[in-house]
Amino acid sequence: MSQGFDYDLIIVGAGVGGHGAAIHAVGKGLKTAIVEAAEMGGTCVNRGCIPSKALLAASGRVRELSQTDHLESMGVRVGGVQFDRQAIADHAANLVANIRSNMGNSMTRMGVDVIEGFGKVLDAQKVSVEMADGEKTFTADNVILAPGSVPFVPRGIEIDGKTVFTSDDAIKLESLPPWVAIVGSGYIGLEFADVYSALGCEITIIEAMDKVMPTFDPDIAKIAKRVLVENRDIETHAGVFAAKVTPGSAGSPVTIELIDADTKEPVETLEVDACLVATGRVPNTKDLNLEALGVTIERPGFIPVSDDLHVMAGDKQIDNLWAIGDATGKMMLAHAASAQGIAVVETICGNPMTVDYRSIPAAAFTHPEISFVGLTEQQAKEMGEEEGFKVASARTYFKANSKALAENETDGLAKVIYREDTGELLGAHIIGIHAADLIQEAANAIAERQSVRKLAFKVHTHPTLSEVLDEAYKRTLVGAH
Ligand SMILES: Cc1cc2nc3c(=O)[nH]c(=O)nc-3n(C[C@H](O)[C@H](O)[C@H](O)COP(=O)(O)OP(=O)(O)OC[C@H]3O[C@@H](n4cnc5c(N)ncnc54)[C@H](O)[C@@H]3O)c2cc1C
Repeated sequence: MSQGFDYDLIIVGAGVGGHGAAIHAVGKGLKTAIVEAAEMGGTCVNRGCIPSKALLAASGRVRELSQTDHLESMGVRVGGVQFDRQAIADHAANLVANIRSNMGNSMTRMGVDVIEGFGKVLDAQKVSVEMADGEKTFTADNVILAPGSVPFVPRGIEIDGKTVFTSDDAIKLESLPPWVAIVGSGYIGLEFADVYSALGCEITIIEAMDKVMPTFDPDIAKIAKRVLVENRDIETHAGVFAAKVTPGSAGSPVTIELIDADTKEPVETLEVDACLVATGRVPNTKDLNLEALGVTIERPGFIPVSDDLHVMAGDKQIDNLWAIGDATGKMMLAHAASAQGIAVVETICGNPMTVDYRSIPAAAFTHPEISFVGLTEQQAKEMGEEEGFKVASARTYFKANSKALAENETDGLAKVIYREDTGELLGAHIIGIHAADLIQEAANAIAERQSVRKLAFKVHTHPTLSEVLDEAYKRTLVGAH
């Protein structure tokens, strides 16, 4: 234990990032406390990954059982599917409660002190917490800030939590409005489009960029557009901003004034039953008192950090003060947050570690799923131009995979991007059944900077979906010497 401090480590924020850091720290023998102002588990457990995946699982079953032609082609006949909205909502809420309580129990069992209240940094080694019985100050050798993020709501959009809402409310599934507009076609918007469309709502997606799903690899986005949007009769408006969104009231609809993203001229006004605003997330870094330590928090509020996640005051790192998770803006994903937490604890314990963001995979849990890791083809080409190598890619389709054919789930593509000279795998992008699980093999390979020409000789179980990537690796051998 560090001399003269209450703790070896205090973590502010008990989301996935803070939790991962705390569990790792006690495992390393550090006396650890975690400060949480709201619920254990943060966004991921309470309002993010967990409830959204529960909704996707239940609504996914509804979709599957409603696709009678698809089932009949496999010899299965079902007599119509019924569902209970409230029971689906309860499934998500119960799962959240269960995981939140397991998380809290695991912390106490492992000896992490949980301090309930809002934390502020007084200096790099001192945290004050507004607790139910007044403000208390705690000291620690090291302090990690893990305050996470909150939904971003653009100006002009009025949230009432009932007819105009963010994912914070959508995960409660309090109603199934007949017509829902979703502003934003990132993974959160797409996942909710999947849920709502499976449960019978009509959807309109509004996207400011010139095409929907602007962040996905273009080959993947093309298939996603066909399978997840056009086949479901989802209407899209791209290249427009939802400039003004006004909630509905008894008998009157939600109105959405669309303007052209370039000219800012009015385009049209939509009248819908509800509007989900899924326009990204912003760091939750207000009131942490970081300015008093010389830290400049620039819009939208990410905490500036060094490569090893020290908080930066201008161009100087603040010793003993670290930040992790969504608040650093590196990769706003649960597993990225906990990887950062673990890396900081290792560094504190004398094993300097940085996070290899290139090998962190990401997924959208739509039906079918979309996943990727590493560089896009465009990023790889830019890197190739700078560093003097050529980039190549190989594609394989789920319709050529025996397991996908047996499942009758043949929509999908896997694409690997690699250096032509060394064969190093630079990126992988998948759309298809279980793509979120399939990407892990490519992520591990990127973490080890492996060559596709070696990966092509790793034996995969037959018949499995993993052969989709196997086949893509093998294609890279064709014509290679
Ligand atoms: C709808 C949705 C679906 C998602 N799905 C996925 C997914 O499938 N996979 C995935 O990887 N990611 C997903 N995410 C993203 C994921 O939830 C976040 O990346 C992750 O929660 C970030 O973890 P964090 O620890 O940085 O912060 P958070 O989880 O936001 O936790 C921060 C915690 O800090 C607390 N806090 C903040 N300030 C203070 C303070 N001053 N004092 C005390 N406590 C404080 C907050 O109350 C909160 O509990 C999803 C997000 C959403 C919204």
